[in-house]
Amino acid sequence: MKLVFATHNDHKLKEVQQLLPASIQLLSLKDIECFDEIPETGDTLEENAKIKADYVTHTYGLNCFSDDTGLLVDALHGAPGVFSARYAGDQKNAKDNMQKLLSELEGRNNRNAHFKTMVHLNLNGESYAFEGIVEGIITKEEQGNGGFGYDPIFRPNGYEKTFGELPSETKNAISHRGRAIEKLVDFLKKYAS
Ligand code: IMP
Repeated sequence: MKLVFATHNDHKLKEVQQLLPASIQLLSLKDIECFDEIPETGDTLEENAKIKADYVTHTYGLNCFSDDTGLLVDALHGAPGVFSARYAGDQKNAKDNMQKLLSELEGRNNRNAHFKTMVHLNLNGESYAFEGIVEGIITKEEQGNGGFGYDPIFRPNGYEKTFGELPSETKNAISHRGRAIEKLVDFLKKYAS
């Protein structure tokens, strides 16, 4: 089965490809020659995921899924949330975003946070949504330089290391995106059988 993953992020594409069975042929936006910057104008992660998948399905007539992720910090009432990519500005710089978050949390005891991923799938005229969450805490400083985004300052519950220190296989197995994609994969397997 051919499916487009509506992302320009090669890192994410690789992560998701590792999780999919060989029977599902994943196509990137590059593969379908879509070089547009799809506007993420929704107020929620759910809306943004739908906007991206719908753009590809309506423009190219292809089955497609997309994901949208946010880091939700309890002490900041769910911020940066839907604004995670551009928390410290439109340049979308991961280091700046982490520094801003660390300074917002300075002196706060409650450092609980969770990543949430919403996946929106358009498949043969129907649409479906899948959610994945991982709970953890925001560390006081950056630890490790693996992964991307906020990984060096997010330590998942039950682990001593941040996502920036853990091997990518470990992260994939427990991450927000891993969990949402797992639900998508389970669904696709049943759908195809
Ligand atoms: P996106 O919706 O997947 O593009 O994610 C929005 C933003 O959330 C990214 O720009 C990152 O700052 C952050 N983010 C998403 N996924 C991860 C992750 O797995 N680790 C760390 N940060 C992430």
